[in-house]
Amino acid sequence: MRRPFIAANWKMNKTLNEAKNFANEFKELVKDVSDTDILVCVPYTLLCSMKNELKGTNINIGAENVFYEDSGAYTGEISALMIKDFAEFVIVGHSERRKYFGETNDIVNKKIKKALEHDLKVVFCIGETLEKREKGITKEIVGKQVREGLSGLEVISEITIAYEPVWAIGTGKTATPEQAQEMHSFIRDLLEELFGEDAAEKTRILYGGSVKPHNVKELMEKQDIDGGLVGGASLDAESFSKIVKFKGQ
Ligand code: PEP
Repeated sequence: MRRPFIAANWKMNKTLNEAKNFANEFKELVKDVSDTDILVCVPYTLLCSMKNELKGTNINIGAENVFYEDSGAYTGEISALMIKDFAEFVIVGHSERRKYFGETNDIVNKKIKKALEHDLKVVFCIGETLEKREKGITKEIVGKQVREGLSGLEVISEITIAYEPVWAIGTGKTATPEQAQEMHSFIRDLLEELFGEDAAEKTRILYGGSVKPHNVKELMEKQDIDGGLVGGASLDAESFSKIVKFKGQ
C-alpha cells in the first residue's frame, strides 16, 4: 500500500561534470521505473544543474540540509526558500550533521518546521550510535529523536522517516532485515501514538546504512521497510539503478 521510495544521499561528493555524467547515465537506466519513487539528494552546488539535467524525468531532486531561518546574517547557510527554487525535498537530521555540526533534536525540529512551512518534503533521519545500541537504549534514543524532532507538528504527510543506525552508515555493516524491521515497527507504533493510525500507516519509513544492490531486496521484503536512503552505493549510476530496480534483483 505504501509506494516504495529509494533515495540517494550524495553527501560531499561530485563536481559539476561528474554530476552531469551521472544524470545522463542514470536517467536512461531508470526511465521505465514507474512503481517506485526515486530521489537524488545532492550538494547545494549541484541543485541547479541537476534540476536542468533531470527535468521531465521520473527522478526527484533534494538538498541534504537546510537552515531554519528565511534570510539574514547567517554566513554560509542556505534557506528553505532558496532550495525551493530547485528541489522538492530536503534531508534533515542526518547523523553526520548531528555528529560533525552539533545538530540537536531541537535544531532538527526547527529545520523540519521551516522546510514544511515552505512546502519542501522532508526526509527526517534518526538512528542510534553503536555505543547506545550496546548499552541497550536504542529504542529510548530513537524514540526521543522522533518525539523531539516532530514536536509541535500536527500533520506528517510531507515527512518520510529514514531510520539509519549510525554504526551501519558507510561501514559496510548492514542491520539485519530483522533488526531493521524491529526498529521500523517500533517507529511506526510511536507515530501511531503521536499522530494516529492513518498517519502512521501512510508514512514511509526508509532504512539507511550500507544498502547495496545485493542486500536491498531482503530489506524491502520486510513489512515496515518502505525504501532506502543510500549513501555510497548511490554515487555510481549503475549501482544505484540496481537498488532502485530492487524488484528485479
Ligand atoms: C547515508 O548517507 O545516509 C548512508 C546510509 O550511507 P551508506 O549507504 O554509505 O551507508
